[in-house]
Amino acid sequence: MRKKIVAGNWKMNTDVVTAKKLLVEIIEGVKRNAPGSTIIVCPPYIALQKAHEMFYGCVVKLGAQNVHYEDDGAYTGEISATMLKSAGCEFVIVGHSERRQFFGETDATVNKRIRKALQHDLSPIFCIGETLEERQGGSTFDVVRRQIAGGLAGITAEDMKHIIIAYEPVWAIGTGQNATPAQAEDVHSYIRTVLAELFSDAIAQDISILYGGSVKPENAREIFAQKNVDGGLIGGASLKADGFLAIANAF
Ligand code: PEP
Repeated sequence: MRKKIVAGNWKMNTDVVTAKKLLVEIIEGVKRNAPGSTIIVCPPYIALQKAHEMFYGCVVKLGAQNVHYEDDGAYTGEISATMLKSAGCEFVIVGHSERRQFFGETDATVNKRIRKALQHDLSPIFCIGETLEERQGGSTFDVVRRQIAGGLAGITAEDMKHIIIAYEPVWAIGTGQNATPAQAEDVHSYIRTVLAELFSDAIAQDISILYGGSVKPENAREIFAQKNVDGGLIGGASLKADGFLAIANAF
């Protein structure tokens, strides 16, 4: 079912001590003021288990930033779905543009990770989005269509109930230059058109589609007010509890 969701992607930031401090601030903030959306926090792997323990009795949900597509084995430095489940994760970011850009992630590997996550009851937050060159070259819709078709190849209608999509234009991530609300709405609406073609109208209308790319407390309300925007995937601004919680309440 379509939900209002705000997810924080801490990326490769914080350590054991600073992660705990930020988690405490988020938990206290949520206790003071019940959030107007589902909040998901995706800290680095070293903080997952601690976060899970700390979230006991709290509405905040836990996610990871990546998952490998094999169950286990000789994949030095990778993390498996069962490891994430055992640390208390319910969600996992898959196909983030930084993974695509710096770590050779392709639509095919994103698809394998999504399938593995689903097989282990982890809900993928499936990231898609065009680069600046692609936008300027007029191929935004083609890129987004290709990423959706590739990433969701072989995924069933039932599986789609557990997937969240994050539209994150690469040129807006970490740049301070967010997509305008109209630009975000335009692509989100197109994503639903593609999903209706590939799956069904009901699935296209039911899925939560988050916008990501330089969302801040100052611009969140206007972006989230768009008809087809169901919330945000937040990078930099999720590292300050007050700002992150202000975004989570910007509906
Ligand atoms: C992200 O990393 O998913 C992201 C949207 O980053 P930022 O909010 O910093 O642009």
